[in-house]
Amino acid sequence: MPTGPDRISPAELTDIRQRYAAERARRLRPDGARQYRSANGQFGYYAKDPYTERAPRDPLTDRVEVLVIGAGFGGLLTAAFLTRAGVPSVRMMDEAGDVGGTWYWNRYPGVRCDIESYVYMPLLEETGYMPTERYATGEEIRRHAVRIAEHYGLYRDFVSHTRATAMTWDESLDEWEITTDRGDRFRARYVVTSSGTLTQPKLPGIPGIESFAGHTFHTSRWDYGYTGGSPAGGLSGLADKRVAVVGTGATALQIVPALAESAGELVVFQRTPSSVDVRDNRPTDPEWAASLRPGWQRERMENFLSVLSGEPVHELLVTDAWTATADLQRNYLTGAAELDDQRRLRNELEDAATMNRLRSRVDEIVADPATAEALKPWYRYMCKRPGFSDHYLQAFNLPHVRLVDTADTHGITAMSASEVCVGDDRYEVDCVIFATGFETGVSGVVSGTLPVVGRGGRSLLETWAFGPRTLHGFFTHGFPNLFQLGAVQNANSVNFVHILQEQAEHIAAIVARADAEGASRVEPTRESEAAWVQTVRESSRDSSAFQAACTPGYYNAEGVGVASGFSYSPGPVAFHRLLADWREGDMAEVLVRSEEDARVREAEHAGVAG
Ligand code: NDP
Repeated sequence: MPTGPDRISPAELTDIRQRYAAERARRLRPDGARQYRSANGQFGYYAKDPYTERAPRDPLTDRVEVLVIGAGFGGLLTAAFLTRAGVPSVRMMDEAGDVGGTWYWNRYPGVRCDIESYVYMPLLEETGYMPTERYATGEEIRRHAVRIAEHYGLYRDFVSHTRATAMTWDESLDEWEITTDRGDRFRARYVVTSSGTLTQPKLPGIPGIESFAGHTFHTSRWDYGYTGGSPAGGLSGLADKRVAVVGTGATALQIVPALAESAGELVVFQRTPSSVDVRDNRPTDPEWAASLRPGWQRERMENFLSVLSGEPVHELLVTDAWTATADLQRNYLTGAAELDDQRRLRNELEDAATMNRLRSRVDEIVADPATAEALKPWYRYMCKRPGFSDHYLQAFNLPHVRLVDTADTHGITAMSASEVCVGDDRYEVDCVIFATGFETGVSGVVSGTLPVVGRGGRSLLETWAFGPRTLHGFFTHGFPNLFQLGAVQNANSVNFVHILQEQAEHIAAIVARADAEGASRVEPTRESEAAWVQTVRESSRDSSAFQAACTPGYYNAEGVGVASGFSYSPGPVAFHRLLADWREGDMAEVLVRSEEDARVREAEHAGVAG
């Protein structure tokens, strides 16, 4: 029976705490994040683009006003706003064969957004589009990315299947020189990097993984040539196949129902179950859509963000599982560090009640008691990305679908030419699909695969040797006209596209102002950068205790816990307000308008001032 927070006794809470600690201990591995393999080298096959061919082209040697690296929603929105602001030549570049980022790569069957499409899909009013469903399919979202590129004329200078290999600031001309893996060597006055956070597929380091002779691929590079069908399903190529899925995260929740429909046999290898709440998707109500007044999307997005951030709202415009669990979600970012003891206990009880409800949901849906038991999540709500599905748990009632729990062996223990092994148990399969997620935080700028050399020949990585240094997360002293989008030293939210949209608007406003006022460069003073680093540090709320008590996963660096101090803890609404206020000012901290401004930057850079 589901229990409300008030019905959980101290004894039950003690039991729950003990169970959570035991489940965490059962899964901790000494090799932590080192257990994974990158999809490169001998595993490069797993990262290859199965969707579009890399067509030959001549190297580029021209000059553009702005280069935007990454054509996912962050890059698209930046390019769109820059174009709208009248910036003459904006070139987007991506390793993919088209725009869309995440939605270009993730085309697996059943792919959908788990945030309401009316707040997730950007620029709906501007492009005159209304999503067909509350939670749109990945294909509908990918097409919307294409729509945005077409609407703002962004294909004109789009460079696909291209990876930037180096960026060097040319002090004599005040512009960047960019080289790529296609032999390009061109110039750009400004560069914006928006290369995503969960982009590189990762594989478990299973002994013998390379010896598997059947078919295998990662969910973000779905092989429809083998499975048949499309993201809508109908995977006829699997009708006589024994298919293994490795992983039970947000992606697996979406592919398992589609595979269950088509595969001859389906074996799902689970290490930690996801929480699976009601999805309740539905077609967009045409009457509701017709009733919306101009400005509705911005209002709805801000309302959603406010609710999730704990800001007061007059009305709840989005009622879903995200808004219902807003208090619990903040644990992920702050560990509820802002609460006093009494409210922290209340928060923990609410968490336990929510998880009890989700565990009861498993019992209500899954017929086999042992399978149901294994599918129950024993951790606090935000230890893992919350999941939603009205079909995932149900799939385990089908006779040809089987769950294999691998918690006791820390995952799959070995693979052979035709088998997946868990301890002494061996499973013969024809195909292994890795739903094992992505490397985290590996933007080329941060990992070093895209070396950035700024003023005085200094590299960005060297400058960030003791941690990132930015003003508002966007720009770094010594690296003029370079903007970074993402989740460093700013404020994040589960509706990440909204976060990117605010960042894109901010960048476009600064570039437009720099052009209007004839500023020669955009570069923060060392002082303003130091002040922001300090602000982020001082405002930081520590979530490490919360994270350290969670089952391992990418949220807590596989159980090690994550360092805090990287985000602006007052939250995204406060951060966006701060940026808007800052834009009202003269932007003196970043605009180099005069010889004197330039001299100050030079002197600071040489270490003799500031
Ligand atoms: P995740 O990293 O969330 O999940 C990876 C899965 O692989 C986990 O269940 C993990 O188990 C399992 N795994 C790893 N190694 C092994 C092993 N050796 N043996 C068995 N199992 C193993 O990846 P996803 O692709 O599911 O999701 C990544 C992120 O993408 C999500 O968190 C979300 O942010 C985003 N996403 C968003 C969607 C949306 O609708 N907006 C939809 C899908 C994804 P364990 O938990 O024990 O480590």
